[in-house]
Amino acid sequence: MQRSPRILINTPDIELWPGGLLRARSNRDARILARAWAVLRRKRDGRFLAASLPEGLVPLLPRLEHEAGLDAAIDALDGLRGGARPGVDVVHTLPLHRLQDRLEALQLDPDRYGERTGLALVAEPSWLAYAGDDRFRRPLWLHSVAARAWQHLREAAQRDGAVLEAISGYRSHDYQLGIFERKLARGQTVDEILAVNAAPGFSEHHSGLALDIGTPGEPPAEASFEATPAFAWLDANAGGFGFTMSYPRDNPHGIVYEPWHWRLSAP
Ligand SMILES: [Zn+2]
Repeated sequence: MQRSPRILINTPDIELWPGGLLRARSNRDARILARAWAVLRRKRDGRFLAASLPEGLVPLLPRLEHEAGLDAAIDALDGLRGGARPGVDVVHTLPLHRLQDRLEALQLDPDRYGERTGLALVAEPSWLAYAGDDRFRRPLWLHSVAARAWQHLREAAQRDGAVLEAISGYRSHDYQLGIFERKLARGQTVDEILAVNAAPGFSEHHSGLALDIGTPGEPPAEASFEATPAFAWLDANAGGFGFTMSYPRDNPHGIVYEPWHWRLSAP
């Protein structure tokens, strides 16, 4: 069977992963995933829902037919199997209304939060490109344009003797909502969580255009990154590749200084 393309197809509730990139948590799933052409994964908690095998779609949990958003995911899978590929630079965004409903359920008013922080809701792209692995050997997903720019940035740094590694790229609304829901369940208030985490929907990571960058031997996402040769190189050169640091010191959004967080500004 032909390999599935190394892209992540994004639907409102479910992601379509290419086969060979996901590690199973059980032996049964491992046997199935080893043969999978593509895997359907629930965005909210990362659960594997089903695998596309030569003989058809194999459920990886009971009652798959009741899964929210399954029809849209199967349509996308059928399109992919039929040879439909998104054009390299044709990236649409998914609608925001589901996010707005879920924010209301958390009693988080997106308009008020937007006014207070000067941040805007960020839509998710319709698909993402594989941009190599991150520091933790997980697949790094980025907007196709950012994936290319990141590759060029990294290679240019390497030529100058600076080693850049990705810490984290694209993250879905559901991923960020999941963090909130787990913390609320542990008794934290929305305000306490907002002091540490961006509100779901407002993170630049949702766009696939931003990534957190580190260098070997440094802890991820710490201000100490600014003292490394890798940061000095980024500071001097990243702009030439279209990347800017989103949250410098005393930024108007009230977000802590994040020398590791860079965004492609002109896709
Ligand atoms: Zn970040």
